[in-house]
Amino acid sequence: MRSTQTGQPLAQVHTCEHGQMCAVEAPGHALSLIRARVASATASKWQDVIVQSRNADGTLVLSPLFGGADIVVWHHDDLRGTVSIGEPASLHGVYGVLATGRARYNVAAISIAAS
Ligand SMILES: [Zn+2]
Repeated sequence: MRSTQTGQPLAQVHTCEHGQMCAVEAPGHALSLIRARVASATASKWQDVIVQSRNADGTLVLSPLFGGADIVVWHHDDLRGTVSIGEPASLHGVYGVLATGRARYNVAAISIAAS
């Protein structure tokens, strides 16, 4: 298993069947300590969002709280059991970290939907 650096959505490039056991640190997969730390160290890049939908394929639709187009992100795990619709969250615009409560997820940006 290897990731490519093509800029393609990794959901199409790499698949892992067991998110809990995943050691891949590419966007959308396991959250590395360094990614979590650099995200928390660059506080101005966080954007407040509301979770609009979450799907079995790991995609989430996020609506920016202060306006802007919806953002679709992907995580290798199905987050339906841990992220709630309507839940406030924060998305880091540079390092692709989604924060909900005390949880942090490494997410890949899939698209920014026109609104
Ligand atoms: Zn993975």
